[in-house]
Amino acid sequence: MPDQEVHVSGDGQPWDVVVLGAGSGGYATALRAAQLGLQVALIEREKLGGTCLHRGCIPTKALLHAAEVADQIQHATDLGLHATFEGVDAGALHRYQQKVVGRLYQGLEGLVSASSVDVFAGDGRLISSDTVQVTAQDGSTQNVTGRHVVLATGSRSRSIADIEIGGRILTSDGALDRRGIPRHAVVLGGGVIGVEFASLWRSLGAKVTVIEALDRLVPAEDPALSSGLARAFRRRGIEVRTSARVASATQDADGVRVVLADGAAVEGDILLVAVGREPVSDEAGLAEQGLTITSAGVRTDEHLHTGVGAIYAVGDLVPGLQLAHRGFAHGIAVAERIAGRDPLPVVEETIPRITYSDPELASVGLTEPAAREQYGDDGVQVVEYSLAGNGKSQILGTTGLVKVVRQTEGPIVGVHLIGARVGEQIGEAQLWVGWEAYPQDIATFIHAHPTQNEALGEAALALAGQPLHSHT
Ligand code: NAD
Repeated sequence: MPDQEVHVSGDGQPWDVVVLGAGSGGYATALRAAQLGLQVALIEREKLGGTCLHRGCIPTKALLHAAEVADQIQHATDLGLHATFEGVDAGALHRYQQKVVGRLYQGLEGLVSASSVDVFAGDGRLISSDTVQVTAQDGSTQNVTGRHVVLATGSRSRSIADIEIGGRILTSDGALDRRGIPRHAVVLGGGVIGVEFASLWRSLGAKVTVIEALDRLVPAEDPALSSGLARAFRRRGIEVRTSARVASATQDADGVRVVLADGAAVEGDILLVAVGREPVSDEAGLAEQGLTITSAGVRTDEHLHTGVGAIYAVGDLVPGLQLAHRGFAHGIAVAERIAGRDPLPVVEETIPRITYSDPELASVGLTEPAAREQYGDDGVQVVEYSLAGNGKSQILGTTGLVKVVRQTEGPIVGVHLIGARVGEQIGEAQLWVGWEAYPQDIATFIHAHPTQNEALGEAALALAGQPLHSHT
């Protein structure tokens, strides 16, 4: 093994910032820090871009788009169009997904190489509070020292006791690598990943059964979205078993067999395990440096400082919503703080959440039960506006609703949407919640007709006591 020496940045000093992991949180930290004139080392063992770009958001949304087109073709006759859905070319579908990822990857590589960020390819390990040792593929090592270290090692799929991943039992990583549409997919976990895969496989022709331990799909969302999604899935022929516990899952050459605690058995040709993701906090030497690590991740203060030396943590490694856009926001905030600015902390409550199933779900802020818990039953007012009254939704053939939760006589604290394409509407709702808007403030803004966006305006009008196209 070559000698280990402490490498320093160009001007003979340690880097200002050493970032471990180049996923959404890590590369955002690096790019923002470089923009602010800091010298940055970015360490990554795989490709720049992390889970979101290569194994998460982007490839799954590409597949979901193909699924949406397949659905549209199958319903084209409803619009008076002759079209026949003849099936899926699995190879071409995979190439499409890879092309989308490839273009974005190329763009990201271009951004990073045009910046002053120094990229180190290899496996990083924190060996002291200011130094990461990088082991390259050829086994050579070098130490990268920084005045600040930012940990951005992300998360990975987890499984549950007694269910071993392999063969026909997959996590989302394996599901994305697999070519072809399953005949019958059994999905364990009715959270975001579970319902997105259930939705897309169904659209592409599979039989799908979702098994969820809690009493409703997407249990982190408002109950109105869970029941709307359950109804839509039932209509689409997706079988959902809630309050269901798995006793065993086995596989052989022909398929998988999942036995539930009540003795019922579900058989399929693959089992997708989508029971959550865990932080990658048990490797890379993190535990040895005295960080506070729980099963949810590395504990930090509101500025994402770990409490040890000048070590920060960002993204999925930090307990909370595991979303790429939260990682970007973390990275920007940490880079600015290191550069001597005073950015506002990233607040979880105003981070928008979208589930890209058919129908889509989009939400920001408090659910109705959470608001009632916080403000009491008399402290909360709620309006639900059905997309049945929205012209554009009728044109698209979607049902769904906009649900707005406000403090009684106070600001809007939560917005929850279900319906085709509603994810694109969450930006406005996010401003309402983030700026603590009152319904009567929003009622003064004109929403374009006919758009789905108009449904937000109608809900705000109703909540302000001036309903137009609703019976509220
Ligand atoms: P999740 O936490 O959203 O859902 C996991 C589900 O599995 C929960 O509903 C849980 O009750 C259920 N579950 C747990 N143990 C079970 C068991 N033994 N039997 C049956 N059900 C069980 O996790 P996920 O869907 O795996 O997603 C992981 C993370 O990735 C989430 O934080 C999610 O927000 C993020 N993600 C986001 C998007 C998006 O923003 N569109 C897409 C994919 C993933």
